[in-house]
Amino acid sequence: MNERFDIVIAGGGLAGLTLAALLAQCTESRGLRLILVDAAPRPIHDQDDDIALRVSAIATGSAALLDGIGAWSHVQAARVCAYDRMRVWDESVPASSRATLRFDAAEFAVPQLGFIVENELMRHAILDVLDRHDVELLFATAIDSLQHDGERSRLRLDNGRELRADLVVGADGVQSFVRQSVGIETHDWPYGQSAFVAHLRPEKPHRNTAWQRFLEDGPLGMLPLPDGRISVVWSTSESRVAAALEASDEELGQTLSKASDWVLGELRASGPRGAFPLCARHAERYVLPGVALIGDAAHSVHPLAGQGANLGLQDAAMLADILQSALANGEHPGDRPVLRRYERARKGANATMLHFMTGLNRLFATDSAVIRQLRTTGMRLFNYSGPIREHVVNVALGARR
Ligand SMILES: Cc1cc2nc3c(=O)[nH]c(=O)nc-3n(C[C@H](O)[C@H](O)[C@H](O)COP(=O)(O)OP(=O)(O)OC[C@H]3O[C@@H](n4cnc5c(N)ncnc54)[C@H](O)[C@@H]3O)c2cc1C
Repeated sequence: MNERFDIVIAGGGLAGLTLAALLAQCTESRGLRLILVDAAPRPIHDQDDDIALRVSAIATGSAALLDGIGAWSHVQAARVCAYDRMRVWDESVPASSRATLRFDAAEFAVPQLGFIVENELMRHAILDVLDRHDVELLFATAIDSLQHDGERSRLRLDNGRELRADLVVGADGVQSFVRQSVGIETHDWPYGQSAFVAHLRPEKPHRNTAWQRFLEDGPLGMLPLPDGRISVVWSTSESRVAAALEASDEELGQTLSKASDWVLGELRASGPRGAFPLCARHAERYVLPGVALIGDAAHSVHPLAGQGANLGLQDAAMLADILQSALANGEHPGDRPVLRRYERARKGANATMLHFMTGLNRLFATDSAVIRQLRTTGMRLFNYSGPIREHVVNVALGARR
């Protein structure tokens, strides 16, 4: 027998969970039947465990969004590292060069530029909020079939349950099963890079600074962790990533100390490591009648500026806002005109960020001496360009302007 739901959210990553919490808390959606289904087990955060491998730079605007749903106090009470400085430099100059981009929270009159937080901790905190609301949460259960009749959907779960939905929200990540099942195509721009991720202990204090050094084969990011270690995200060739995964702790420390130009002294491998494939991907459309895509299911961007999760949170907030007003006006949440409002609000903004990241990565991944010279000159000039600097920082802070 088919069970009927108003909204099925496929995927309980940051984007899907945030949408579920926003919808569960708004008065307009009271009475709606809402379910969230995720293929993976429910995330658990244990304060006694080591800091997890996957951390994200979360913009102040995203933290405010999580605060609005009541999840941020839980995150802050657990562990989080605010960062108030950012340094971005090219491998052809030292970090102390005038061509190094410098951003300081004090200069922009904000207490911090953002926060480094474990992904699992944020998900755990949102779930804690959702447990107090009337939303069915199903983990360790995959959607294994979706039939869309042009308006509504029928879904089959791998536990045999069958659902009917007026609106299916695909929040199921970069390989989105929902997106593929309804036939939405994507534009892909392979980077030819993977991301190697590890925690290391630096010889010098990280001073709550997020560092990014642009190397010829990809950027090396170093994010401060609350226990004094750093999370390294090294976007580089597949072969370098494979070697880094295999390296001894000593070899890895040497490789990354050199790649960071010893800006934090010697780095010592200390904790988990892993690798993630990278690809810029953008869905050709975000919506069909009765279907909407959010988060990585709609767009996947290079991690170099730490924007992927932040964009997904903004998608969730916008879709929730639009569904809320539609319900208040007596419109049906799955109707095309309602969902098109969401697509118009988010697709252009996400495309701009995606192309900017892809272009930036290409601009730095070149061995041309001329381009390198232009780049460092441009970075030096950028440091003196008041309004442009301010705009870039506002985007990075997640301020919706
Ligand atoms: C190395 C690296 C570093 C990054 N650093 C940052 C950063 O600093 N800041 C930042 O903002 N972003 C960062 N990002 C990007 C960020 O991690 C992602 O954009 C974000 O986690 C995507 O969230 P999501 O909820 O859209 O998708 P996901 O987190 O991928 O969640 C999708 C969920 O869908 C579920 N699912 C999949 N298929 C099915 C199915 N058939 N049925 C049911 N469930 C299904 C999965 O189990 C999963 O839980 C980084 C990414 C990488 C790779």
